[in-house]
Amino acid sequence: MIIAIDGPAASGKGTLARKIAEHLGLHYLDTGSLYRAVARDVLARGYRLDDTWAVVAMARSLDSASLDDGGLREPGIGEAASRIAGIPQLRAALLKYQREFAARLPGAVIDGRDIGTVVCPNASVKIFVTATPEERARRRFLERQACGDAATFEETLQLIRDRDARDAGRESAPMRRADDADLLDTTEMDIEAAFDAAVGLIKRKISQ
Ligand code: C5P
Repeated sequence: MIIAIDGPAASGKGTLARKIAEHLGLHYLDTGSLYRAVARDVLARGYRLDDTWAVVAMARSLDSASLDDGGLREPGIGEAASRIAGIPQLRAALLKYQREFAARLPGAVIDGRDIGTVVCPNASVKIFVTATPEERARRRFLERQACGDAATFEETLQLIRDRDARDAGRESAPMRRADDADLLDTTEMDIEAAFDAAVGLIKRKISQ
């Protein structure tokens, strides 16, 4: 069974996907970590983010053991990831790993931007998780504040809006709700409520 969870930055899709995977005993892949890891490697070797050759080379030599690196969650790496994510050759280079992961038994929960549309168009369940930009910025702002980050709420909101525009506006595999994906708006939900709602959607889909 493949469960595809897509949605914009700070929508809560990662926490939700991980919880669903644990609950159902499935493997879990955060595909954002692949794009982040490539961006990290490009910058660490002193290449530019618009150097397609370097970006693709880093993707081809990506070490999946380095995907747990805590540094991948740094705000700058997320921004850099979204800047390279529009490169079609990069997306193509990361596709095989994602599809092989999706084929692992007994199944996988995979989150990202294009899982339901491109990576796993035949997923048994597709959920597009969203929340208003203001609510997502509020969550991100609180997270950053707890880490001692001095960014203001307005700056955080602007970053969220810019990231949404880049991810949804690119030509190659833009962030988009698949036609057959259920929408889960978590604006008014905490993680427990979002989890209960997602499990309800999954049960309904599987019983159909
Ligand atoms: O999900 P996360 O915020 O970690 O992703 C970082 C960036 O990687 C996203 O803003 C997006 O540009 C890119 N990404 C993507 N396709 C995916 C997952 C992430 O383009 N499936």
